[in-house]
Amino acid sequence: MSAAPESSDAADGEPPVLYERRGAVAWVTMNRPRYRNAQNSAMTYALDAAFYRAAADDDVRVVVLAGAGQHFSAGHDIGTPGRDAHLPFERRAGLWWDHSDKQGAESRYARESEVYLGMCRRWRELPKPVLACVQGACVAGGLMLAWVCDLIVAAEDAFFADPVVRMGIPGVEYFAHPWVMPPRIAKEFLFTGDRIDARRAYEVGMVNRVVPRTELETQTLELAERIAQMPRLGLALTKRAVNQAEDLQGLHAGMDSVFGLHHLAHAHNAEVAADSLGGMDVAAMKKQAGA
Ligand code: ZN
Repeated sequence: MSAAPESSDAADGEPPVLYERRGAVAWVTMNRPRYRNAQNSAMTYALDAAFYRAAADDDVRVVVLAGAGQHFSAGHDIGTPGRDAHLPFERRAGLWWDHSDKQGAESRYARESEVYLGMCRRWRELPKPVLACVQGACVAGGLMLAWVCDLIVAAEDAFFADPVVRMGIPGVEYFAHPWVMPPRIAKEFLFTGDRIDARRAYEVGMVNRVVPRTELETQTLELAERIAQMPRLGLALTKRAVNQAEDLQGLHAGMDSVFGLHHLAHAHNAEVAADSLGGMDVAAMKKQAGA
């Protein structure tokens, strides 16, 4: 079955997300390879539509989230021609009002509550197992997408980083860092902004498997198909059980409190620097990283 677009990307005419059925598996692919799958709002809402479709389809037992091209996702879109952070979209994740006609912290808080924290939490609750299939860059906003998945299969060339402390911001909006890795490792990860490779991510328990790049897709599909043999409700309840355990370990409330710190940092940047990102674009981030 050929991959069907979820919606089109106004900037380059390509659908930002592809949806494909492979037996009992819904294969969802981020499709902005030219921009290392940088997430604009068009992609975020297309992902939401794809997950909704997979949840509603009784023949889909397991979902895979993948990225087209060399990289899973380089993060949120902070500078491609398709950047659409100022545009309104039909909101689905929460009840916050439209950000696009508001100003300052009100606009940022409303938008990020919807497209970052709200969407990620919504997807984490998808009542079917979701596997991330990760190669190349999984950076900042890319981490959020991998972390909401239940299992992560990483290619040997995958690397993970959250460099947004360089913007003066304490990590990406979906602040799962000290839950997906030990707290002291999370601090090093954030304080340095350095990449960790797939092996290191495996060592600290952040990914389930590391496989050769050439086998990433087949091994992810194989694992998805094995899981798909389990009873639907059993999987849904098991997922809920583990997610509840994580929330009892403080994930949900912790993330809420850090979201406030995150927006304090955005507001500080907006007061003292060029913009809420501290005047940092992709080129500036790379320069600071020495890349
Ligand atoms: Zn933010």
